[in-house]
Amino acid sequence: MTNPIQPVRGMNDVLPAEIGLWQHVERIARGIFEAYGYAEVRVPLIEHTELFKRSIGEFTDIVEKEMYTFEDLGGDSLTLRPEATAGIARAAISNGMLRGQRHKLWCSGAMFRHERPQKGRYRQFYQLDVEALGFPGPDVDAELIALSARLWRELKLAPVRLTINSLGTPASRQLYRERLVEYFRSHEDALDEDSRRRLGGNPLRILDSKNPAMRALIDAAPSLSDHLDEESQRHFSALRAALEAMGIAYEVNPRLVRGLDYYSRTVFEWVTDALGAQDAICSGGRYDGLIAQLGGEPTPAIGFAAGMERIVALLQQAGAAPGASAPDIYLVASGERAEREALRLAEKLRDALPGRAVLLNLGGGNFKAQFRRADRSGAQLALILGDEELDRGVAAVKPLRREGGQIDCPLALLPERIASLL
Ligand code: ATP
Ligand code: MG
Repeated sequence: MTNPIQPVRGMNDVLPAEIGLWQHVERIARGIFEAYGYAEVRVPLIEHTELFKRSIGEFTDIVEKEMYTFEDLGGDSLTLRPEATAGIARAAISNGMLRGQRHKLWCSGAMFRHERPQKGRYRQFYQLDVEALGFPGPDVDAELIALSARLWRELKLAPVRLTINSLGTPASRQLYRERLVEYFRSHEDALDEDSRRRLGGNPLRILDSKNPAMRALIDAAPSLSDHLDEESQRHFSALRAALEAMGIAYEVNPRLVRGLDYYSRTVFEWVTDALGAQDAICSGGRYDGLIAQLGGEPTPAIGFAAGMERIVALLQQAGAAPGASAPDIYLVASGERAEREALRLAEKLRDALPGRAVLLNLGGGNFKAQFRRADRSGAQLALILGDEELDRGVAAVKPLRREGGQIDCPLALLPERIASLL
């Protein structure tokens, strides 16, 4: 025996038993995105490594240690996308979509990060991603958050909490950054290894630390909100007022900085208490500088990404059952001629009853075995075709989910009869 091939660590199969929930989330999300005027885009799973270095930033966890980077046969350094925003921004530039135009875009698909796999944290995972390009806000910031709130509402997700913060402009953040470095330098002994490394490259990321030993030091650090420029302050108050007007509860967390470099002004995160350590289901923010930084025309923008696995896990935990997709009709056929005829009959029924699921018994078997399969399939009706029925030009119809005997029906009248029974 050869050893069975193992799946790659941190990469999951989504099997039919779960797919109903995934499709349910995707259906609701698509409906909401479209209702808010967002159009779907699909961007490549692979981009030049340079794109992620220049957008996400050299001193972020993602770029420092989580990317699947490889050299292709042509010698180019390529990377499996760890997130979608950079690719969408790149696509907008590559396709000449900017030039003062505005775009509302959404995208869904697999992302790849070489993280330590654990519950809610995988190496291939799926995100729903929503981006508004060319909108300076704060109205769009508020609307985007309302869109995400509606998503949780329609999905009937267990309670999720919204936290928001403003990172100000890069200029005001620079000033804050200096203050922060001063502060952490004066406490360098108390810093853990990660934080010491970040102190040089990306000191704001220290605020994001999940190490409890760092908590007290971080809590006493200078606060970003005291260093906001006036314009960003106005933007933030307007966002808060809009959220209040829409009745969307939020909490301001001045330590919310987000792991990526490209954010400016508004950042937000939706968290849950129901998933343990992996508590963020959705995060996003404004990235006014990113597109220019990538060589495009300066274009204000905002977006968010939500983690599919965590949303599905929340729904599963709440007992949501995936919508079972049972067939409408199970076609039982026994006898050499009847089995041959059944293939043709199934096709005819599929023509006559579009949208109805017709399951044909494959691989033969006696009547009893076929009926067992028909029953297990969850079908509403069984259609029975034997050589004897065939000689008489009929098939027998039998309801499987309710009382009612088997009745013969002329083949030509089958679609009508079936339609009246479903
Ligand atoms: P976390 O703090 O959990 O590492 P993050 O800040 O890295 O999240 P983002 O890059 O903003 O997350 O991604 C947005 C969402 O994608 C997260 O809120 C989460 O739901 C999901 N997500 C991120 N990384 C993973 C992963 N490795 N596995 C599963 N879902 C993930
Ligand atoms: Mg992360």
